[in-house]
Amino acid sequence: MGKILVIAEHRNGKLSEGTLELCKVAKEIASATGNTPAAAVFAKDDSIAKELAQYIPEVLSAVDAKFEYYTADAYSQAIRAVVEGNDVKGVVIAHSYDGVDFAGKTAMAIGAGIVSGVNKFEAKDGKVIFTRNIFNGKLQEQRSAKTDKFVVTVEKGAWDKEPSGSAGAVNSVAVSVGEVRTKVKEVIETTKGAVDISQAKVIIAGGRGTKDADKYKATVIALAQKLNGEYGASRAVVDAGWTDHARQIGQSGKTVSPDLYIGVGISGAIQHVAGMKSAKCIVAVNKDPEAPIFNIATYGIVGDLFEVVPAMLEELNK
Ligand SMILES: Cc1cc2nc3c(=O)[nH]c(=O)nc-3n(C[C@H](O)[C@H](O)[C@H](O)COP(=O)(O)OP(=O)(O)OC[C@H]3O[C@@H](n4cnc5c(N)ncnc54)[C@H](O)[C@@H]3O)c2cc1C
Repeated sequence: MGKILVIAEHRNGKLSEGTLELCKVAKEIASATGNTPAAAVFAKDDSIAKELAQYIPEVLSAVDAKFEYYTADAYSQAIRAVVEGNDVKGVVIAHSYDGVDFAGKTAMAIGAGIVSGVNKFEAKDGKVIFTRNIFNGKLQEQRSAKTDKFVVTVEKGAWDKEPSGSAGAVNSVAVSVGEVRTKVKEVIETTKGAVDISQAKVIIAGGRGTKDADKYKATVIALAQKLNGEYGASRAVVDAGWTDHARQIGQSGKTVSPDLYIGVGISGAIQHVAGMKSAKCIVAVNKDPEAPIFNIATYGIVGDLFEVVPAMLEELNK
């Protein structure tokens, strides 16, 4: 019986919420494949490992000053040492900026196949087959690693969080970290002081249809300011860096229920709708009459947002 090993994410001494989702994934894969779930924590002390033991039966804790800040070099070396010292069958990593950064390096280091950005799995004939979205969620594909071990990165929000209640063991592991070629000089929080859009009464949300950061600002943000509301975004917009994650609405973002939600250039993917379907009045602006957002809209405007939004602003200015 081997281990399905979660790699915990933490920052500023705080365990990430996503790691609790990974605990659930590891538990499910372990139970479907006859393995055991475990997690590895690389940190400057063992306080996070102790916290994580409430969610998973075994935590392997490696303590080193080099783990104070995340670096791909330190993490991939540490994971390699843990995998070599334990019978690890699968490594479960968050599909986050950090996770994607070290997952490939880790797969190389331990000689495992990697599947990235998964949102489902099934176990068949001893193999774990993962499902992931491709072409912006329009299609799904199934993949499995050809190697005995696998590394997988898991989409945020695809699984629920594992509830606390486990009284897991914390086992120290000795890891000697060699050269780390990245030095973290400062951590700058981009979302510091960000608003909590989940409390807003009026939300204008923009999607990929707004084309770029400047046009998103000229349409979505301008309309939000005019209506004294907040602006929000689909994940496509957040991933493109046009606004920050605190404004993402949906399964892996915020759940909102404003009196008025106006979706501009948003298709209405199921993961987005999960976060806004309880809005009292939903207005959708989309040039595609078949866009799924129209299925839940109170009012639908089929048209080019670059004509519709300026017309709305002009009326409001009057
Ligand atoms: C596990 C998981 C979690 C996810 N979590 C979230 C989440 O929390 N939130 C989220 O939003 N997504 C989430 N997604 C992604 C989701 O599946 C979609 O990919 C995403 O919502 C698409 O964003 P979009 O509607 O902006 O882009 P698209 O789907 O590309 O839609 C753009 C829309 O703009 C319209 N358009 C283009 N040009 C114009 C124009 N000039 N005028 C008017 N309309 C125009 C198009 O017709 C199209 O309908 C998640 C996916 C997964 C797998």
